Amino acid sequence: MSASLKNKSIIVTGASKGIGKGIARVFAAHGAKVLLVARTAAEGEAAAAELRANGGTAAFFQADVTDRAQVSAMVAKAVELHGGLDVLCANAGAFPACKITDLTDEAWDGLFVTNVRSLMLCVQAALPALRQSPAPRVVVTSSITGPITGFPGWSHYGATKAAQLGFIRTAAIELARDRITINAVLPGNILTEALVDLGPAYIEATAACVPLGKLGSVEDIGHAAAFLASAEAGYITGQTLVVDGGQILPESPAALTA
Ligand code: NAP
Repeated sequence: MSASLKNKSIIVTGASKGIGKGIARVFAAHGAKVLLVARTAAEGEAAAAELRANGGTAAFFQADVTDRAQVSAMVAKAVELHGGLDVLCANAGAFPACKITDLTDEAWDGLFVTNVRSLMLCVQAALPALRQSPAPRVVVTSSITGPITGFPGWSHYGATKAAQLGFIRTAAIELARDRITINAVLPGNILTEALVDLGPAYIEATAACVPLGKLGSVEDIGHAAAFLASAEAGYITGQTLVVDGGQILPESPAALTA
């Protein structure tokens, strides 16, 4: 466990459930002061309360990360509550399934607003506060879907996740003059509440495609994010870290049984 995250002020967007909640849990366990962000207050408040009950420092802020004013207010809240901002975990995202033949302009544009514009807005809003930090970091939750793999129904989703990586590569250069690093974690199939709802048969079938034989936990992504936010990762920027149990590696299904 890196001691460098103790007392750091962290924002995690999309932290009311799923991967974001796991990221928040890992940072809180490292002694960071976490601001959890989502649109649904009841879930977000409950997630923050859970962290506090386990000895963490955590608060919830209700915001839609696609809205510039709400994103600015989110950063202001972290500064007000936790004395500054050291790490932005831009994790909030959506993944509605839709085959290419059924995609509308609205569905395409809407997902880019949620997954890509939100990243730009969060980074922009966080910059002034991050510049005041001795070790400022941005960690983005992208995906293997899009940058590396594909799956029918997720062409628009994959495009947004690849777009996030295009953004961070230039952002890494622009932000370097302010000593801010920006990197992305690329999760494979992670056992979130939404995935559990799909049932044991789906989970078993997906796990069978993963060399390590199981789905990832939300904490697996949290640990990767914590590493990229740590002092030890201070010379890494503009990079991606795949956390998928080896899922992208098999050349064919036969590779898993040969
Ligand atoms: P999830 O369980 O559906 O959680 C999504 C979180 O984002 C919730 O807290 C949600 O809360 C929040 N959110 C969504 N839209 C938002 C908005 N406009 N403003 C603020 N918060 C918003 O999803 P997840 O599976 O944890 O996914 C999290 C991230 O990981 C996404 O970027 C996703 O692309 C990526 N990812 C997931 C997997 C996986 O296997 N689960 C794999 C690869 C990548 P509200 O709805 O209340 O706002």
